[in-house]
Parts: sequence; structure tokens; C-alpha cells
Amino acid sequence: MLDEKLEALFDEVVKRNLGEAEFHQAVHEVLETLGPVLAKHPELAEQKIIQRVCEPERQVIFRVPWQDDSGEVQINRAFRVEFNSALGPYKGGLRFHPSVYLGIVKFLGFEQVFKNALTGMPIGGGKGGADFDPKGRSEAEIMRFCQSLMTELYRHLGEYTDVPAGDIGVGTREIGGLFGQYKRITNRYESGVITGKGTDWGGALVRKEATGYGVAFFVEEMLRSRSRCLDGTTCTVSGSGNVAIYAIEKVQALGGRVVACSDSSGYVVDPNGIDVDLLRQVKEVERRRIDVYAERRGPLVSFSADGSVWDVPCDVAMPCATQNELHSRDAAALVRNGCTAVAEGANMPTTPRGVRVFREAGVSFGPGKAANAGGVATSALEMQQNASRDSWTFEHSEQRLYEIMAGIHRLCHETAEEYGAPGDYVVGANVAGFLRVARAMLALGLV
Ligand code: NDP
Repeated sequence: MLDEKLEALFDEVVKRNLGEAEFHQAVHEVLETLGPVLAKHPELAEQKIIQRVCEPERQVIFRVPWQDDSGEVQINRAFRVEFNSALGPYKGGLRFHPSVYLGIVKFLGFEQVFKNALTGMPIGGGKGGADFDPKGRSEAEIMRFCQSLMTELYRHLGEYTDVPAGDIGVGTREIGGLFGQYKRITNRYESGVITGKGTDWGGALVRKEATGYGVAFFVEEMLRSRSRCLDGTTCTVSGSGNVAIYAIEKVQALGGRVVACSDSSGYVVDPNGIDVDLLRQVKEVERRRIDVYAERRGPLVSFSADGSVWDVPCDVAMPCATQNELHSRDAAALVRNGCTAVAEGANMPTTPRGVRVFREAGVSFGPGKAANAGGVATSALEMQQNASRDSWTFEHSEQRLYEIMAGIHRLCHETAEEYGAPGDYVVGANVAGFLRVARAMLALGLV
């Protein structure tokens, strides 16, 4: 529920951004928690900080023409939303998926602003992508698409301006094609202009693993605050992409057992715990569907094309696929089956009604902007290493990641207590992230 003033602000956001349902949802979720902040800091309302924070600083929409392998011309639409640079250059990934449109890029950019603030690092928020479907495309087609996209995007980027990275459909291969074209056009080996690079050409160790590992570290901290730990728990994960694979790997290293994961074709149940090497081989190397994992793993493992991964009983659930994939009925099933902690590896994977079910049941709930911030934090570490022409060891980088995630957890926990909502990480993350951005915006004046 929003109070009257915030309700009016929200109505204005909806009116100015018609048809962008995901963006409205992300804004509503943040505004819901800001009433007490405005009461405590009247200067924020005087300076219209909320209205300003809901309006991207700049939005770029452009055509991406390219030729497929049969010689046919293809046209896609690409976006870069440079949302807020009060804390540093715009920072956030690029998503290649047929569902991408302005409303999705804006919701992701909006979330990114607060997430980046929570890391405590000097990065602003932005996001981009294209309605391009990489599934079934050849290596050559992917390369041509990346080159065409960067031929327009490069003019908006720079290590002090806007620094993209990967997201759904954009991994090291695509980052390589994008960075190569940027380098060619600008004649600059500007490593800090993009993150998620290969470790042979300016990438940082642990960046690939960082979002998933970070989610596992965050869950461990959530459990620890209730005098528990991952060791001995049963977990389920949705997705089987970058975030999911490394979340599974770290949860299992910490003693948990992940018994189910999914992709958009269905889910597998593996009672002995997911074999991460096999999953990586099937999904990352061969780019096959998840039923191939079940087929190769043996008779104890089942694949279902129908139903939901959230029907599998677990202590801890980690949605790591996409937005609005965990509905209220899924949340109810998880609670019924004894789940006591949920951490979002994906951005906004739980619907608002799903979140309500968890909160009412007393489930410990870590929202994406806190739980999955390890990826962008490690991107900022990659920028640091690029700027100093240095590269750190795996152990050092992972230790930094752990400290950052523990720090985010502590900040959210303490802020929630300060604002009268102990244990509520949604309140903690929104308020702490918003306040960091808002203070910087006040200091920088009306820009
Ligand atoms: P990937 O493209 O590597 O993997 C996405 C995974 O989710 C795939 O297994 C995909 O299945 C699955 N998926 C996508 N859409 C659906 C759907 N509608 N139903 C079921 N499964 C689906 O992306 P990432 O792992 O990088 O990103 C996953 C989420 O994490 C996104 O929300 C992203 O914004 C967020 N995130 C990512 C970060 C990163 O560093 N990569 C950082 C912070 C957040 P399929 O193979 O069938 O398409």
C-alpha cells in the first residue's frame, strides 16, 4: 500500500510511461517502502528526488540491421537506458532476448540504480539489450549482430560514461564480439568500457562466477542471522544459465544439496544433488536443453516439461531465471513444503503477490537488488583491475566478493531494523540503496 503522496507520484509514473508493466511494478515495489524515509527527510520531497529518480537521465533506442547466414536482412531494436549517474558511470548489463522492450530495460535499469548503490562502489545504474533471439543462431550470425549493435552503441559508452556487461543471452562470447568492435571503431584498447571480458583479454577472475556465488553467500548470511547455515539444507534453483550454475556450485560447496533446476523447456529433479560439471557441459558448452542433462545423468533423475520447479520440496529456494517466474501459487507451494528462505538470483523473479505470501509466512526473503549484487560488484572490481593494469588472484577476488555480500547483508539488516521492519530485507535494500543515491543527488544539485 502506498500513502497518498506516493500514490500520486506512482500514478504520474504510470501516466508518463504507458504500457511498461514491468517498470511500473519495479517502481511500485520501491515506493511502497519509502513512506518512512520521506517522513524522516523532508528535503527529499522538496527537491523532488523521487520524481527525478524515476525518470532516466537518458534513453537511447536504435535499429540494428544485420544479415543472416542465408543472406536475408534482419532488423532488431536495441536499447540503452542510462538511468542514474549520481554515484558513478552508468553500469548494467545488456540482455538479448525476444521479450526485450523498453519496459523491461527500464525496470532492470531502475533496479540496477539501487543495487549498485548497495555495493558501496562508485557506479551509477543503467541497462540495455535487444529483442534479438540468440537461440539457434550460428557463431557468425551472433558476431554480425554484436558488431552491428556496437557500431551504434559505441558513441554512448566510455569507461567514465557508461559501462555495459552481460545478462540473459549475453555471455563472454557476445562481450568479445562487442568489445572487439568497440576497439576497432575507437582505436582504443579501453578495457574498462565493458565488463565480463574473458580472462585472457582484460577480464577478471571470479566475474563469471560472481552473481551465483554472491547469491549463495547472501543466503548463508540470511541463514546465519537466524542461527542456521546452508550445510545440510535441501535447495532448489530455477534456470540453468550463468547465475544458476554458479549459485548451485557454491551452495553445494557450502554443504547444501541442490535437487532441482530448470530452463524454459522444463525442470529436472536430481535427488543426489545436481552434477554441476555435467550441467555446465550441457547448457554452457553444448547449449542444449535441460532434458539432455536428465538423459545423461541416469535413471534416478527425472525431467518434466509441465508443472513447476517450485513444487519440489526444499528448505531454500533460489529463483535464478527471469522476471515474474515465481507466482503466488508457487510461493504457497514452497511454504507448504517447508521452505524457510528465498534469495533472488534473477531480477524481480517473484511477483508482488508471491513476495506477500513469503512475508506473511515469515520466510526470510532476499530481494534481487541485494542478493544478486555480487555480479555488478565484481564488475566494478574488474574496472579497478583494468584501471590499474593489474589482475588479482581467484582467492583474493572471491574474498572481496564475500566481504561485499556480507556488507550488503549487514546494511540491509541494520537499515530494516532502523526503519522498524526487523528481518525485512525488502525494506532494508530499498531504503539503504535509495538513501545512498538520494544523498548524492542532493549534493550534486539540480542536474
Ligand atoms: P542466462 O542467459 O545465462 O540464463 C538464463 C536462464 O534462465 C536459462 O537457463 C534460461 O533458459 C532460463 N530462462 C529464461 N527465461 C525463462 C523462462 N521464461 N522460464 C524458465 N526459464 C527461463 O542469464 P543469466 O543467468 O545471466 O541471468 C539470469 C537472471 O539473473 C536474469 O534475471 C538476470 O537479469 C539476472 N542477473 C544476472 C547477472 C549476471 O551477472 N549474469 C547479474 C545480476 C542479475 P533457456 O536456456 O531455456 O533460455
